[in-house]
Amino acid sequence: MLRPSNNKDQPPAAAGGTAKSTIHLALTHDWELRGDGSGDIEQIQFAPLRKLLEIYRKHSARTTFLPDLMQQIRFRQLESEHPELKSLADKWDEHVREAFRQGHDIQLHVHPQWRDGRYEDGRWHLNGDWSILNYARDDAHAMLDAGKDYLEKLLRPIDPSYRCVAFRAGSLAATPSDHLFKSLANLGIQLDVSIAGGLFVNDRNLQLDYRDCEEDFLPFYPAIEDARKVSETSEAIVCVPLNHFYASRRAVTRQNISLAANRISKGTVRKPGEQRINAQESDGQSRLAFAFDKLIKPAMKRKHFVSDTGRLNYRLMQEMIGSIRQRARQSGLPQVPVVLTNHPKDIRDLAAIERFVGEMSRAEDIKFLTLTEMYRNLRSGEFQVRSRSREYRRSEFNL
Ligand SMILES: [Zn+2]
Repeated sequence: MLRPSNNKDQPPAAAGGTAKSTIHLALTHDWELRGDGSGDIEQIQFAPLRKLLEIYRKHSARTTFLPDLMQQIRFRQLESEHPELKSLADKWDEHVREAFRQGHDIQLHVHPQWRDGRYEDGRWHLNGDWSILNYARDDAHAMLDAGKDYLEKLLRPIDPSYRCVAFRAGSLAATPSDHLFKSLANLGIQLDVSIAGGLFVNDRNLQLDYRDCEEDFLPFYPAIEDARKVSETSEAIVCVPLNHFYASRRAVTRQNISLAANRISKGTVRKPGEQRINAQESDGQSRLAFAFDKLIKPAMKRKHFVSDTGRLNYRLMQEMIGSIRQRARQSGLPQVPVVLTNHPKDIRDLAAIERFVGEMSRAEDIKFLTLTEMYRNLRSGEFQVRSRSREYRRSEFNL
C-alpha cells in the first residue's frame, strides 16, 4: 500500500521502504543553436548528433531528441531570400529523420525568441522574448501548433503512426501560465518534461522560479495554471519532472577546478547573450568573483544541478544516478520514470557520456525508454501519477 505524504522531501514508501524500483530512464536532448542564434550549426548540432547516434547504437539505447522547432521554422521562412538557410534546413530535416529511423523519438521543443528573428550578413538577430509564458495565448498556441505540425509532416512518411505528444519549453519556461498547458492539451500534447525542481533564474533574458515545487521527482498532474503545484484531480496533461540533484562538495569542486582553469586560461567567462539556465552564472563577472562563485561557494554547501549529462563530468553523473536510485527506492513505487536532459551544443565530455550510457545499459534496475513510450505507460497506468486527492494512482488522462 502506498501512503500519502505531505512532505515533498519524504515521498511515500512501501512497507520497509527498501523495495527495489525499476528506473525507466528517458535520455533527452535539447537540440538547437545558442539562445542568441549564434553558433555553427554543423559543429554544435549536426556533428554531436551523429556522434551521439553512434554511442546509442553501440549500447542499444533508444532516446529522445527535442529539436527547437521555432529555429527550424524560421530557417524555412527565410530560405527563399537566403538560399544557404535552405540547405542547412534540409540537413536539419535529414538529421532528425535519421535519428528517428534509428529508433529514437523526436518531440517538441520551442524557443520563441526565434519567431521574428532577422538574418543579416550571415548572422541571426533574435529579439523575441525568451519565455513562451510572456506571449499572448494565441501567439503561443500558434507556435506550438506550427512546431507539432512540422514534426508530424516530417516523420509520418517514415512512420504513419508518429504523433507529437511531449513538450519541453525553451529555457524550461513552462509555468505559471493561464494558457500554456491548456494549449498543449488542446493540441494533444499531454506530457510535459520542462519542470526542474530547485531551478531559479533571474537575469535579463529570463525569470523562472521552480524552488518551491510540490513534486520534483515523480510524475504528477499539475495544477493547470501553475505546475509548481500538484492538481487536486487528474488533468489532461502529466508532468514528469526534469530530474535534478544536489552534488557533493567534492565532486562540484573537482569539476569547477577543471572548468575554471579552462576559462580563466582563455580569459573569458561566457559570451554575452549565450544561453544559460544556471542563475549562478552571470555576464561580466570579474575573475575573482568567478573563482569565488565557482570554487569557494559550492565548497561550502551541496550544489543544485539540473540532470544535464552534457554539462556534467562522469563523477557528477554517478552522483546523479545515485540520487535517482535513492529517491526511487524511497518512493516505494515499482516503476519510476525519470527524465534526463543533454545539450549537444554544450557537451563537455563525450567519453564520460558514453561510459555512463554503457553502464546504464548494463544495469539491471535501469531501462531506457523514449518519451512516447513514457507517455503510453502513463496513459495505460503502468506508471503511476500523483494528484493531490489520491497521492498515487493509476493514470486517468482527463480528456
Ligand atoms: Zn532549448
